[in-house]
Amino acid sequence: MANTGQPQIGHWADNAVLAGTSRNTAPVTNPATGEVTGRVALAGAEDARAVIAAAKAAFPAWRDTSLTKRVSVLFRFRELLNERRQELAEIITSEHGKVLSDALGEVTRGQEVVEFACGMPHLLKGGFTENASTGVDVNSVRQPLGVVGVISPFNFPAMVPMWFFPLAIAAGNTVVLKPSEKAPSSALWLARLWAEAGLPDGVFNVLQGDKTAVDALLEHRDVKAISFVGSTPIARYVYAQGTAHGKRVQALGGAKNHAVVLPDADLDLAADAMVNAGFGSAGERCMAVSAVVAVGGVGDELVAKIAERARSLVTGDGTRGSDMGPLVTAAHRDKVASYVDAAERDGAKLVVDGRTVRADGAADGFWLGPTLLDGVRTDMSCYQDEIFGPVLSVLRVDTYEEALQLVNDNPYGNGTAVFTNDGGAARRFRNEVEVGMVGINVPIPVPMAYYSFGGWKSSLFGDTHAHGTEGVHFFTRAKVVTTRWLDPSHGGLNLGFPQNA
Ligand code: NAD
Repeated sequence: MANTGQPQIGHWADNAVLAGTSRNTAPVTNPATGEVTGRVALAGAEDARAVIAAAKAAFPAWRDTSLTKRVSVLFRFRELLNERRQELAEIITSEHGKVLSDALGEVTRGQEVVEFACGMPHLLKGGFTENASTGVDVNSVRQPLGVVGVISPFNFPAMVPMWFFPLAIAAGNTVVLKPSEKAPSSALWLARLWAEAGLPDGVFNVLQGDKTAVDALLEHRDVKAISFVGSTPIARYVYAQGTAHGKRVQALGGAKNHAVVLPDADLDLAADAMVNAGFGSAGERCMAVSAVVAVGGVGDELVAKIAERARSLVTGDGTRGSDMGPLVTAAHRDKVASYVDAAERDGAKLVVDGRTVRADGAADGFWLGPTLLDGVRTDMSCYQDEIFGPVLSVLRVDTYEEALQLVNDNPYGNGTAVFTNDGGAARRFRNEVEVGMVGINVPIPVPMAYYSFGGWKSSLFGDTHAHGTEGVHFFTRAKVVTTRWLDPSHGGLNLGFPQNA
C-alpha cells in the first residue's frame, strides 16, 4: 500500500493486518463531514491469493475442531460484541453516515445471527435409520465446504457480513470477507474481535478491494461458495461468474419495495410507517419502502400526513441525535438528487424537496433531506430504478387488484407491506403477492435470524436465502453413509442393483 499519510485500512489474514503488495488504494470518507478519513487497500491478485491461502491452510484443523470448542468461540465472540457494540456502531456511522441509534440497531440484528449460530450443534444434527435393510444402517451428516467468500455492500457493513460468517464458521468453514470499499473498517474491527475471542489463525480473513478482489474470489478454485449482497447488476454477474467456476452462490440483489395502503387502514399509523421505512438510514436499506401505493382515494390524506411528518425530521450528523444522516458519498447524493430532478421533469408533484435541506452538520456533508413525490407513474425513472436514497414515491390506484398487479409486475421482489385492518384482505395479499418478505402492517419485515432473509425475482440469484436453516444448508453439504458390519452370511457374488430386504 502506498503511504499517503492517512490511516491505512489493510487486509486481515492469520489474525494479523496484512498490508498487501498492491499499491492501489481508495479514499474512505466520513459522509457527515466530507473528510477523507483513511485509505483502504485495493487488493491485487497476489493479495487475494495470500488471503485465500491463509483460509485454506486453516480449514483442516478448524473442521476437525469439536463442535463444542467451535461454538465456545462463538459464545465468546457474542459476549465481546455485546460489550463493545457502541465502538462498532461508531465506526459504522463514521463511514456510512447512518445515525448512531440506527447503527446500534444494525449491530443488534447481526448479533442475533451470532446467537442463532451458537445453536450449531443442534442445527447440524444428522439423521439415522437403523435397519434400513436387514442389518444395514443409514445415516446422514452435513459437512463444511472449505473456504467460503462473503462479499458485502456499503449499507450494512457489519450486519450483512454477520448474516453469513457466524454460520459459516460455526459449521466448520473458513471465511474470506470482501467488504465494501466505501465502509471497510467494520470488517477489520470484527476480525480483531474474533482473534480476541480465540478464533484460530486463518479462520476469519478480510480481503479489501473492488472488482479485482471480487473476481479473484469468484475464480479461485479453493473458494467453494460465495455469499454476495449488493446491487442487482453485480449480483447477477457474481451469480453467473461464480457458478461458471463451479461454486455454489447465493447473490442477493437490489430492491424496490412497495407499501400498499388500503382504504380502511389507519392513515396516521400508515404515515408513521412510511416515514420510518422510507427515510430511516436515508433510504439506504434494501428493505426501505420507496413506493407507496395509495388505494381507493386515500391518496390526498395520506400524502398530507406523510409530508407533515417528513418536514419534521432533522437531517444531520449521525452523532448528534439527528433523525436521518447523510448519503454515503457525494456522487451517490448527486445521483439520488438527479432522480428527483427527473421526476419533476416527468410531471411528478414534488411535495417535499430534500435538495434544499438545511442539515445539522458540516457544510461539506453529503446531505439530501427527505423527499416526497406524488402522482408518480410506472413509466418514470424514479419508479423504475432503485434510487437508494430518502425519496418516497406515491402512486395512486383505484383497487386492491391494481395495487397487487403493480407490485407483482415490478422486476424486484425483496420486501413489501400492506396496511389494512381487514384480515381477509391482508390474508389475500400475503397469499398472492410475488415478493420474498411480506409485512402485514409491518413496514420493514426483516425476518428474525432463525428464519431466512431473501427476496424473489431480480432481488435474489440462486435459491438459498441468508441465515436460518437455509443458511446452514448453504454452508454445508450432505453426505449419506450406508453401513453394514459384515458377517459370514453376507458372502457371495450378486451383480444386481442393491435392493432393500
Ligand atoms: P454494489 O453492488 O455496488 O457493491 C456490492 C459489492 O460488490 C461491494 O463489495 C463492491 O465492492 C462489489 N462490486 C461493485 N462493483 C463491482 C463489479 N463491477 N464487479 C464485481 N464486484 C463489484 O452495492 P452497494 O452500492 O455497495 O450496496 C447497495 C446495493 O445493495 C443496493 O442495490 C441494495 O438494495 C443492495 N442490498 C441488498 C440487500 C439484500 O438483502 N437484497 C441488502 C443490502 C443491500
